[in-house]
Amino acid sequence: MNIPQSSHPRIIIIGGGFGGISLAKKLAGQEVQVVLMDKHNYHTFQPLLYQVSTGGLEPDSIAYPIRKVLQGYDNFYFRLAEVNQIETDKRIVKTNIGDLKYDYLVVAVGTETNFFGNKTLQQNSMAMKTIPQALNLRSLILENFEQALLTDDYHEREALMNFVIVGGGPTGVELAGALAEIKKGILPKDYPDLDTRRAQINLVQGGDRLLPAMSEIASKKAEDFLEKLGVNVWKNIRVTGYDGRLVTTDTETSFETATLVWAAGVKAVSIKGLDAKNFVTRCNRLKINRFNQVEGFDNVFAIGDVAHMETEAFPNGHPMMAQPAIQQGRLLGKNLIRLIAGKQMEPFTYKDKGNMATIGRNKAVCDLPNFKFQGVFAWFVWMFVHLYFLIGFRNRVVVFINWVYNYIRFDREARLIIRPYKKEFKA
Ligand SMILES: Cc1cc2nc3c(=O)[nH]c(=O)nc-3n(C[C@H](O)[C@H](O)[C@H](O)COP(=O)(O)OP(=O)(O)OC[C@H]3O[C@@H](n4cnc5c(N)ncnc54)[C@H](O)[C@@H]3O)c2cc1C
Repeated sequence: MNIPQSSHPRIIIIGGGFGGISLAKKLAGQEVQVVLMDKHNYHTFQPLLYQVSTGGLEPDSIAYPIRKVLQGYDNFYFRLAEVNQIETDKRIVKTNIGDLKYDYLVVAVGTETNFFGNKTLQQNSMAMKTIPQALNLRSLILENFEQALLTDDYHEREALMNFVIVGGGPTGVELAGALAEIKKGILPKDYPDLDTRRAQINLVQGGDRLLPAMSEIASKKAEDFLEKLGVNVWKNIRVTGYDGRLVTTDTETSFETATLVWAAGVKAVSIKGLDAKNFVTRCNRLKINRFNQVEGFDNVFAIGDVAHMETEAFPNGHPMMAQPAIQQGRLLGKNLIRLIAGKQMEPFTYKDKGNMATIGRNKAVCDLPNFKFQGVFAWFVWMFVHLYFLIGFRNRVVVFINWVYNYIRFDREARLIIRPYKKEFKA
């Protein structure tokens, strides 16, 4: 891997997401050698992936080169590598570009889409967890309308213009809202020769309310907003299969669609060597103590979505959100330095800063610890918070300009089929 030997202890961080990056920043200027590995050479701002899928933002504006984050720090190394295995007994990380020894290891690999073992759903539906997946979805949505314009077959045309999104969490809600706005504001102008009023956006939720991690009032308001935008909200329905045309559910309801978006769950990325039953818990997350140490190790740590820390306030682990990852990364940076210096580490306590989701123009819901609000003000708060946490000054400026432009013009100009997408359905 061409990493020089150092007199300082070597810390390997796997994953340049919210957790990995905040940890790396905290280790800057310290007497350690830091090697950050990621299978992508960029950090992805996942909360805005749905805007890439729906042509609101260019992918570059929600990605940031990891090398640039580490620029100027001595003793920092980035390697574009996919980690396949960890040999904890030999303290070795095995990757597709070679092996590397560590003194301390931090696993910050995040999550992947969870299809709960359903193979046909995995093969035939669209996920939206990475930038390439968001671009695939953008192409498919646009290709569907191009095809709908050409076909004489009524049923095929309906299926091409019928969208089914599974999962009523923030991702599903935000995507459904964005599609509804496209249907209203853009499709009639782009496709004057197609009856785009027939386009349907269906949001299917297994439970009895949307945004289950938020307050009842936020759920109710989000549903009202979506219904006003013309989204069909289906609750208490579980999708059981999809053959590329027909979506089946555990009720009499079924949907004919050429596009099923799966936003119904994630599970932690598991890495061989740390995947044994005694290390993992719900959704594959690694069991960690209050110092982020993986159970049974004093030099292997986990942070963010991949980590399951039980506390009195969060007996089922922290929510899989950016804030726990960022806060754990920051504290672990300090704790590693303390540990190396032979000092006592500080236990992690999550400071809940709230939860929010946007449904569309002037429509958002915010649950702050002491204040819950919805509507226009919530939408401005949502935008400000997302701009603030985006990495990179250029990205903030570009996203801000895009949002202002889209707001004034009622437009989404990134509706481009740059990389055509051909889905092969499997039975
Ligand atoms: C569509 C979507 C919308 C979201 N919206 C919000 C929101 O509005 N607010 C919010 O707080 N949270 C939101 N989240 C959740 C939030 O993005 C995650 O909680 C957060 O990214 C977790 O940070 P992390 O550092 O644990 O993992 P991640 O940010 O996922 O980073 C993991 C990194 O590990 C890398 N990696 C994975 N496996 C390997 C491997 N084997 N080898 C090398 N590298 C590897 C990945 O490439 C990635 O860069 C959203 C997530 C998604 C998918």
